[in-house]
Amino acid sequence: MKNLLKVENLSVAFPFDTGDKKAVIDMNFELHEHDFVGLVGESGCGKSVAAQTIMGLQHPKAIIKSGSIELMEEEIIHSSPEKWQQLRGRKISMIFQEPMNSLNPLMKVGRQIEEVLEIHFDFSKERRKEIVVDTMKKVGLRNTEEIYEWYPHELSGGMQQRIMIAMALVANPRVLIADEPTTAIDATIQTQILKLFKDIEDLYRGAVLFISHDLKLVSKICKRIMVMYAGRIIEEGDINAIINTPKHPYTKGLLKAIPDYKKRGQPLYNIPGQVTPLKDRIEIGCPFYKRCESRMKICREVFPKTSDFGNQKVCCHLYDN
Ligand code: SF4
Ligand code: MG
Repeated sequence: MKNLLKVENLSVAFPFDTGDKKAVIDMNFELHEHDFVGLVGESGCGKSVAAQTIMGLQHPKAIIKSGSIELMEEEIIHSSPEKWQQLRGRKISMIFQEPMNSLNPLMKVGRQIEEVLEIHFDFSKERRKEIVVDTMKKVGLRNTEEIYEWYPHELSGGMQQRIMIAMALVANPRVLIADEPTTAIDATIQTQILKLFKDIEDLYRGAVLFISHDLKLVSKICKRIMVMYAGRIIEEGDINAIINTPKHPYTKGLLKAIPDYKKRGQPLYNIPGQVTPLKDRIEIGCPFYKRCESRMKICREVFPKTSDFGNQKVCCHLYDN
């Protein structure tokens, strides 16, 4: 299958008084056509920093320490602003958590979707409108001709997020990154938006990277999962392998922390402790050491190698041979 996105040895740091601290460390992954991959971890683990770097939208203070990002076999990591303008929307798109912060409050939503087409194609006005209306239908909006004329504040949160998804998809990009796309939406609408993501998979022959802190939610729609902790992917694999036979103590903890109706009345499990704030992190040993119930002496000193189980990979000394 065709390789659409290839991230290799990506490390991104931020400057602190204590020195540059890496929020993303040696990240490696590939997305192929029809991939639907979840990137999961607690907030502050580096998911958004990775996504923003892949989109060329990293914080001005972020320092790319190393790595390569190939989009459809083209290196893009140090692209110029003009180049990014060509890539974003057309080859790679992103959907953010808060639609209201991303939409222009003063512009009709239909026009906002149309603008993406204007940047990338020479279509006539009529053709553009046709494509916009068609895309609005595909993302589950009804009365599209009417909604085209509305301003963002006239739409519900769920509808705003559908507009964002339409904007992301209208120019038919090959890679779609969704960063917590349902977190700011109420629970009932969340289910509908998730269903829409499943439909997107059929609608369009690209790849989706779906970012969330919610492992349960990701397991409902993704085929493959990468679990991130303190800047590193510490476990990844097929959804069934990760859910049924998690290997990393952190993944096990995340699964154990999912509320289970069968255990009603019992206290909810929480992984002990907290992720070390970025400014205090040291890159020695296993980053999960302080919170791990299975830690050993070696874990404090040596970062574990990756053990490969075929459909699952894990970075933990418990699997050293
Ligand atoms: Fe726990 Fe050691 Fe595995 Fe880290 S390497 S997760 S500390 S057992
Ligand atoms: Mg985030």
